[in-house]
Amino acid sequence: MSSPVWHAFTQHGLNEEIPLIARAQGATLYGADGREWIDAISSWWVITHGHCEPRIQAAIRAQTDQLDQLIFAGWTHEPAETLARALVDITPAGLEHVFFSDSGSTSVEVALKMALGYWLHRGEPRHRILVLEHGYHGDTIGAMSVGARGVYNRAYEPLLFDVGTIPFPAVGHEQASLDALEAACRADAKPAAFIVEPLVLGAGGMLFYGAETLARMRAICAAHGILFIADEVMTGWGRTGTLLACDQAGIAPDILCLSKGLTGGALPLAVTLATPAIFDAHLSDDRARMFFHSSSYTANPVACAAANANIAIWRDEPVAERVTALAAMQAERLARIDGRGRIAAKRQMGTITAMEYAVAEGNYLSALGPKLTAFFRDRGLLLRAMGNTVYVLPPYCISPAELDRVYDAIEEAAERVG
Ligand SMILES: *Cc1c(COP(=O)(O)O)cnc(C)c1O
Repeated sequence: MSSPVWHAFTQHGLNEEIPLIARAQGATLYGADGREWIDAISSWWVITHGHCEPRIQAAIRAQTDQLDQLIFAGWTHEPAETLARALVDITPAGLEHVFFSDSGSTSVEVALKMALGYWLHRGEPRHRILVLEHGYHGDTIGAMSVGARGVYNRAYEPLLFDVGTIPFPAVGHEQASLDALEAACRADAKPAAFIVEPLVLGAGGMLFYGAETLARMRAICAAHGILFIADEVMTGWGRTGTLLACDQAGIAPDILCLSKGLTGGALPLAVTLATPAIFDAHLSDDRARMFFHSSSYTANPVACAAANANIAIWRDEPVAERVTALAAMQAERLARIDGRGRIAAKRQMGTITAMEYAVAEGNYLSALGPKLTAFFRDRGLLLRAMGNTVYVLPPYCISPAELDRVYDAIEEAAERVG
């Protein structure tokens, strides 16, 4: 019998294999049929320490016996209070208010709504949003609006709002990008906010740019009073080599979005942090000025307990050292990769590497990605190619031997997949 499940980002008409996974531990996925896979992309960028991390699992089990779910308007609970305080402590100075939701996309919707509320309540309504070319911020309508347009959102294009797009600061083109941002900030139609993925544009193809450029972008927005929104849904929790990508640039955004690794990847949870200026703009004895947003599962206690365990792991264990060691291991593997000349480009940002295969004459780019993904799946690896780009974004517990298998397959694919 065929499955009734309609999968995410899946063309069911192609009848590609969809393995059934029974359990996972560390960097390994165990199939129901006995096969195993190395999870080299952290189950779509969420798992940080490893699957079924014991301390996170224990915190989840303990919390489920205490409080499962609670309305989070007018009521509160200890796991959320503890988590909010910890997040204010470990994120850049100035972010003092924590709004809970349940996915990265929602944390971005919340960020956009906070920005518009800020301007409206200051008596200076603004709604124009500046975005970075090739950006990705999620798949809800608002999040799609501030992300790159393409085949994946063509059907919804009529519903997406207009944005101002700043060219991606590719190596050698940073100044042009900064100049465009400066010009957009000076334009008559004053922007409300600029939203960026700091240092790494993930879904846009693992495109990297430097901390200095990020710092200058932030400074331009500050000089013009434009709110700066950092979407660290993917880059947070060590991926770029530091806890947050913003830390490398020494910057504090006005609004910060976190999700994915917030619970170590074990449960869905998201937060949007904001400065007192943004919170205070909504502060009043007038109910009409409150922040009008809620998700049913806002600050779910079990998810908050998992996030508290994640933060305890960062606090008590040498996670920063693990991240540094993984980044060094990745650098060493990347340096050795040559793909018999078929790797056209390779790059690294912290624990993330990306390699681009040269596309052979007569081959369609769009066909290469699925072929690569299937090739890796058949070799016991969870790797997902984006077009001709394959990237390695592993949980921090991945072993050198496991990483060797990943890179061996990437080399082999260069010869075999065309
Ligand atoms: C994944 C991602 C999102 C969306 O998060 P979901 O939890 O999938 O809704 C938003 N922004 C960035 C940068 C992401 O990588």
